[in-house]
Amino acid sequence: TVDWKGKRVTVAGLGVSGIPAARVLHGLGAVVTVVNDGDDERSKAQAAELEAEGITVRLGDGATLPEGTELIVTAPGWRPDKPLFAAAAEAGVEVWGDVELAWRLRGYGESLRAAQSGKGGGGRRAGAAPWLAVTGTNGKTTTVRMLASILEAAGLKTAAVGNIGVSLLDAVLGDESYDVLAVELSSYQLHWAPSLRAHSAAVLNLAPDHLDWHGSMEAYAADKGRIYEGNTVACVYNVADPATEDLVREADVEEGCRAIGFTLGTPGPSQLGVVEGILVDRAFVENRQKNAQELAEVSDVQPPAPHNIANALAAAALARAFGVEPRAVRDGLRAFRPDAHRIEHVLDVDGVAYVDDSKATNTHAAEASLAAYDPIVWIAGGLAKGADFDELVQRSAGRLRGVVLIGAERALIREALLRHAPEVPVVDLDRTDTGAMSAAVQEATRLARPGDTVLLAPACASMDMFANYNKRGEAFADAVRALAENETGTG
Ligand code: ADP
Repeated sequence: TVDWKGKRVTVAGLGVSGIPAARVLHGLGAVVTVVNDGDDERSKAQAAELEAEGITVRLGDGATLPEGTELIVTAPGWRPDKPLFAAAAEAGVEVWGDVELAWRLRGYGESLRAAQSGKGGGGRRAGAAPWLAVTGTNGKTTTVRMLASILEAAGLKTAAVGNIGVSLLDAVLGDESYDVLAVELSSYQLHWAPSLRAHSAAVLNLAPDHLDWHGSMEAYAADKGRIYEGNTVACVYNVADPATEDLVREADVEEGCRAIGFTLGTPGPSQLGVVEGILVDRAFVENRQKNAQELAEVSDVQPPAPHNIANALAAAALARAFGVEPRAVRDGLRAFRPDAHRIEHVLDVDGVAYVDDSKATNTHAAEASLAAYDPIVWIAGGLAKGADFDELVQRSAGRLRGVVLIGAERALIREALLRHAPEVPVVDLDRTDTGAMSAAVQEATRLARPGDTVLLAPACASMDMFANYNKRGEAFADAVRALAENETGTG
């Protein structure tokens, strides 16, 4: 436990994690200074609010370490090579991220409320909920939501926390007391969470992403691997992605903690996998007579695309590690509904299925959804974030009926298509205006035949044309609905 009274804490970054962190620490009696690089109008307004509450804010200088700082709590997005952290290292000041703060404050809710109500006292609540944690390049949100659905089906009080639903800080400090938390963690957050110890954790997959931030693939993998440190029951890895198993091997875990694999094939011992359309568990089998426990059918998982079955197996592995019964795994998976813009089936028009996977903002995600359909008319393009499209195009070429390209950096995809799939027809829409998506859907419809899938899986970020991937997906769905209305109108 930390004595927060009078502790001088610097919060780095006025933002979604910084503002609540500053308030909570101030509430616990710490002397808080917020530092922020920017000093735009929005920051000024936020700073004024915090200042009125008694929190010091320094705008336009996120580089200098305030005098007397004893601890830095940083927004997860701040790069480790920032001068502020060099100054902290020199001064021997610890740096925590938002996740580390939430982890350290588990159970402090009562003291915080007592302090706020002026009654004083109020000890630390015992028995803070254990964490089941998930990271990976893709599939985190989906897996965490599947996991929460399974835990709920088992009658447990839980919440999906991280980039979704309840904030981590609210979950550990709020009035609700949870049995267990399903926690999504990014590589940035893990980098800044040195003392986090999950009950069990999963790394879903590892593909190059955010390498500029971490500095190298090795550093990125090492940050992801932090999720296994100190696990007590299970480290869940992806059999098809050996780098995830390497991370388990390198992790320092509690005695008795097991490595549990998940695979889309037949599972070995200590693995979950798929046998003849059934999700089976060979890792947590109660009845010694049996060598596998049936959990659910592939068709219980929505959508039943291969990568999503993998997500379901990872969620099932974490739930089983927590002692959840097979029946609750099935019920929880059946109750799960995917979030919008993640392989969302919009409509069928004239025998062609239109699928919105606007959330496929990198090549690894797009490859997963392209693997789920055949034949495909693929709509792609946007901001490439320095990605290389050769592998994606090579692996998907055989399933492509045609391609429609939109967005600022579509030339990179067009060149990869020329190299690896020169026979596939490509419509290169030289447009980044808001009407471009509707034109793309029309072009895709021209290329498609009955039985095909028109798939928006851009493999790129959306900000060249849209505010975010939600808006991009909505534009696609609107265009598809307009198309369907025209069909019924004229036909
Ligand atoms: P994250 O939270 O990691 O961004 P999401 O669950 O939101 O992941 O899914 C993001 C995108 O990644 C989806 O649109 C889907 O195309 C793709 N995806 C989901 N799960 C996987 C997986 N296991 N492997 C590869 N791609 C995946």
